[in-house]
Amino acid sequence: MSASSVTDAGTRVLTGVPVVPGVAYAPVIRPGLKPEIDLGAAALGDEERPAEAARFTAAAAAVAGRLRERAGRATGAAAEVLATTAGLAQDRAWLSAAEKRIAEGTPAVRAVAAAVDQFVAMFTQIGGMMAERVTDLRDIGDRVIAELVGLPEPGVPQPEVPSILCAEDLAPADTAGLDPALVVALATTLGGPTSHTAIIARQLGIPCVVAIAGLDDIPAGTMVLVDGTRGTVTVAPEESAAQDEVASARRAAAAAAGWAGPGATSDGHAVAVLANVQDGAAARAARQTPAEGVGLFRTELCFLNTDTEPTVDQQAAIYAEVLEAFAGRKVVVRTLDAGSDKPLKFAGHPDEANPALGVRGIRIATGNPALLDHQLAAIAAAAQRTGNPPWVMAPMIATADEAKDFADKARSHGLTPGVMIEVPAAALLADRILEHVDFLSIGTNDLAQYTMAADRMSADLAALTDPWQPAVLSLVAMTAKAGAAVGKPVGVCGEAAADPLLACVLTGFGVTSLSAAAAAVQGVGAKLAQVTLAQCRAAADAVLGTASATQARTAARAVLG
Ligand code: PEP
Ligand code: MG
Repeated sequence: MSASSVTDAGTRVLTGVPVVPGVAYAPVIRPGLKPEIDLGAAALGDEERPAEAARFTAAAAAVAGRLRERAGRATGAAAEVLATTAGLAQDRAWLSAAEKRIAEGTPAVRAVAAAVDQFVAMFTQIGGMMAERVTDLRDIGDRVIAELVGLPEPGVPQPEVPSILCAEDLAPADTAGLDPALVVALATTLGGPTSHTAIIARQLGIPCVVAIAGLDDIPAGTMVLVDGTRGTVTVAPEESAAQDEVASARRAAAAAAGWAGPGATSDGHAVAVLANVQDGAAARAARQTPAEGVGLFRTELCFLNTDTEPTVDQQAAIYAEVLEAFAGRKVVVRTLDAGSDKPLKFAGHPDEANPALGVRGIRIATGNPALLDHQLAAIAAAAQRTGNPPWVMAPMIATADEAKDFADKARSHGLTPGVMIEVPAAALLADRILEHVDFLSIGTNDLAQYTMAADRMSADLAALTDPWQPAVLSLVAMTAKAGAAVGKPVGVCGEAAADPLLACVLTGFGVTSLSAAAAAVQGVGAKLAQVTLAQCRAAADAVLGTASATQARTAARAVLG
């Protein structure tokens, strides 16, 4: 997968997995280091303790204030993550534990470290959802200690000039609220094409490359050129050549910016170009692009921090926001894809050794049918309220029987049912599944994971989870063909649809809609408008004859330019 090479000019080029197209040239910044704790500090005298307690209170308040401020500037899921972390920074339980130690004579830095350790041990012992707060609590502790010792706050620094953020990996609190005018590209050592880093970069519309071996050796301040289309990071390139590359990528982006939809090839074959969203805010942002509708509303992302099942009314209000944002347009709502990397506190997940192969997606409904029923009722209520009836689809369908059960339930709520094709078994039996549902939507992220038997979160396996893998493309082609045979729509809503070249190949397979992050919509639409359906079909035939992802890309480029 990742590699490093040296150009004729002696410049080092690191290679990773390209996830968001675009080119940026800027100095490297890195997340701040965690502060070192001086455990040797002496105990405080009685008279020093009140001042030390006040210093601690001020430091915790400053950290919480900064996080709240960032939450105020962010939107959607980012604002929620930051607000939750700010709340934890002011949580009475751990603040009291630190204050108690200071009152007993422990210096504030050590008191913070010990209080954090105490709660980390407690959360870890409770396990489950509490254990997930451990990272947040440690992060808060590091920030408060940095404040106490006068070091820059750990996490992503606010750069003074446009910079490229390089890191081993990025946590949600690191990336939430980044300013795309100042952080102009992301590059990480870990992460795959569907990792958190990739999703945030797409939302921000900045180039991103992940799974780059050797990235950790590049010191902060080094000028680098990140090419999110090729998947390269060039270390200290010749300046004028780097500026030329940025300028030419900008020209391509400007051409894409001129594209206003609707999606079609240059000879008029219509393919709907849609957006993937996770809440009302994202839907309203997507509405500002030429996206013709929503091809995937990931409802589970609305409830990642919700402890108990939201009521039908609460759910309906959230879904209605998305339906309203795209009033009169197509919206495809996916029922809760809880489990694996997206556990929900109220879904009652069993303890599993292998959650990606466990009770996730539609499988949750077997043990907890009420959850699905309530959600379908809420979607139907939102449809009624907004006058915009959405399509609904179930995630992780593996059999025709599962598809039939879901379709019956959805129809009983007056909804138009479809299913996601993410499991190879479902792609192979797409014709039989189509006997029960009105449409299919191919989730190439999971389809690649399950076809290639490779964890989609693994950086080491990123070359295997590449959607250009011919085995994955064969299953997509087979599914599209099954849809065409009975005249039912087959869309793609995985990250594959965000790659303009691959979008043309998918069109050649007969896919009827492409749904991607809002930031990818124009690039996909503009590319599609430059090629004919015959070219798309020729590229589709060519990739099916290849034996590797690299060969498939090369074959498609030869036809599509
Ligand atoms: C997919 O698997 O391709 C998909 C769209 O679903 P998610 O990424 O939410 O698992
Ligand atoms: Mg999926």
